[in-house]
Amino acid sequence: MQISLHQLRQGQQKRVTGRVQLDLQRDVPDLLHLEPMEVTAHLEKQDTHLFSVHVEQKTCATLTCSRCLTPFSLPLEAEWTELFTDVEYMARETDEQEIYFVEESLDLQPLIREVCLLQIPFAPVCDEHCQGICPKCGVNKNIDTCSCDLTRIDPRMAKLQDFFKGQD
Ligand SMILES: [Zn+2]
Ligand SMILES: [Zn+2]
Repeated sequence: MQISLHQLRQGQQKRVTGRVQLDLQRDVPDLLHLEPMEVTAHLEKQDTHLFSVHVEQKTCATLTCSRCLTPFSLPLEAEWTELFTDVEYMARETDEQEIYFVEESLDLQPLIREVCLLQIPFAPVCDEHCQGICPKCGVNKNIDTCSCDLTRIDPRMAKLQDFFKGQD
């Protein structure tokens, strides 16, 4: 999504809408599918050589639940504003402020991508109450129940238990 600075320089505002297809599969292994991102960008001249872009982005991701391994969809919506300049000396990157340097046209795709990536949880869950799968028999505990005994015995303790049993 490339936006030319030409009209902005002359003080005209610009509203751009479009769809962006992001490829995030390599960064997010749990991602099964990502709908094209719906983007609305509003661009404005703030000052000589200073421009702002306000973006609303919306999509829907299909992820694998990290607990029960079932695919589920997660709507992803975000809104953000950034400043950019067309002269190098005004560009900066500090904790308080970031002004991107853009020569002739602004490419929104890397920024849209970054925001979207940050929205996808590291260990996605289909529901915060998801029961996951039984580590012993593999049953999805959201759908089914099992009677597996999951009390864990420390293997070192188990040896000690055997030892004491042998003493009787
Ligand atoms: Zn789940
Ligand atoms: Zn089980």
